[in-house]
Amino acid sequence: MSLDFKGRVAIVTGAGGGLGREHALALAARGARVVVNDLGSATDGSGGSSAAALAVVEEIRAAGGEAIANGASVTDFAAVQTMVTDAMATWGRVDILVNNAGILRDKSFAKMEIDDFRLVIDVHLMGAVHCCKAVWPVMMEQKYGRIVMTTSSSGLYGNFGQSNYGAAKLALVGLMQTLALEGAKYDIRVNSLAPTAATRMTESLFPAEFLQALKPADVVPAMLVLAAENAPSRAILCAGAGSFEAAHITLTQGIWVGRGNDTPEQLAARLAEVRQRDGENVPDSGAAQGHLELTKAMSQLQKN
Ligand code: NAD
Repeated sequence: MSLDFKGRVAIVTGAGGGLGREHALALAARGARVVVNDLGSATDGSGGSSAAALAVVEEIRAAGGEAIANGASVTDFAAVQTMVTDAMATWGRVDILVNNAGILRDKSFAKMEIDDFRLVIDVHLMGAVHCCKAVWPVMMEQKYGRIVMTTSSSGLYGNFGQSNYGAAKLALVGLMQTLALEGAKYDIRVNSLAPTAATRMTESLFPAEFLQALKPADVVPAMLVLAAENAPSRAILCAGAGSFEAAHITLTQGIWVGRGNDTPEQLAARLAEVRQRDGENVPDSGAAQGHLELTKAMSQLQKN
């Protein structure tokens, strides 16, 4: 797999600090021209300043790379469209989009205000939707695109106090699943990255000795592999402290229970069999899952 990005143009959102900054620096160091997007807000999404994005652009230029700064909020579709138009006007293409911008508004669900739920969905999910929508026609036309969604273990597996964030982060995996299918014939590959790193977002979550080991730069190899020319599509890679795993949304073999009046009781009695995980698989699409169920039912009905 080539990890040379010469000639490629990348947009990295939320690239003024933390993981996004490392992604932008690494792509630029490997030859990509980079749009460094960042609203420059606090972790809770308040405020904004162009200073963070500009500083990363300066770092890239000082190292001999090419970059432009962009201060759009990913929640503003018109501003995101302008960001893509500017990238096209400057470099004539957009090959890579890393949806990385994010905020937190943590609280247990009982105490969470609806506005805090909505804002987190707006930044993570709608922000990524806006960026994907703006680059999609460009990537279709080029017949080339690589999109990386930044998901999270909170979305994949849950985390106390993060119902808003977890819902938004798993929604990005759902977005990936369909965009990967729809983009396939245009060589648009869409993947997800679940990072673990010491940034301002996590500094209060981990003890100091863990934070030492969780360098944001250690997540970058997973992003590079997911954004590369030979990237997979529909992969979910987890990365932190030099460890890498793949997460899957699997389907158990299940059983055909039937369609009698007592099906609810039958299902309740055999729930352990339905849930048992030997031989589970990852369907190619939602339609493939439906097809599997129908096939199982048909073969049983033919036997009866
Ligand atoms: P961070 O706070 O350092 O970076 C987030 C960046 O996004 C900030 O620079 C911020 O200014 C920017 N931003 C926020 N709202 C924006 C908006 N509306 N438009 C444009 N930019 C905006 O935190 P980080 O840890 O580097 O987070 C990067 C991504 O990784 C986030 O999506 C986060 O949810 C995700 N993530 C991080 C971890 C981790 O362990 N750090 C774990 C799982 C997921």
